[in-house]
Amino acid sequence: MSESCLFCRIVRSEIPADVVAETEKALAIRDINPEAPVHVLVFPKSHVASLIDLKDEAELGHLMALATTVAVEQGVGESGFRTVVNTRADGGQTFNHLHIHVLGGRGMAWPPG
Ligand code: 5GP
Ligand code: ZN
Repeated sequence: MSESCLFCRIVRSEIPADVVAETEKALAIRDINPEAPVHVLVFPKSHVASLIDLKDEAELGHLMALATTVAVEQGVGESGFRTVVNTRADGGQTFNHLHIHVLGGRGMAWPPG
């Protein structure tokens, strides 16, 4: 648990969030600045700084499974969706608590612009 971490604060309900799914170990919330009609962030409730810092393969599986469940529940299972994990500075990670972006509801070119 980190005092000032945005995602830890959301877990503690110190900052409001639009929660779309929750498990014992993870939370899924709508991104405040969505880049697609569906843009959800899936992250562990315990503080893990980035993908590199996640040592537990079962937890990684849990997060990916939740990301998939969220995509289906948000109606983009058939049309398709993108999962993105930005890691550290060059990866474009701006908040240092591991999170999976789930993006869908529009076509997305690769590589992203
Ligand atoms: P990153 O750049 O670290 O991969 O992604 C951080 C994401 O968090 C961004 O897409 C940004 O829009 C989102 N974000 C930043 N502040 C907040 C907030 O207070 N609430 C929510 N729900 N999302 C946020
Ligand atoms: Zn945190």
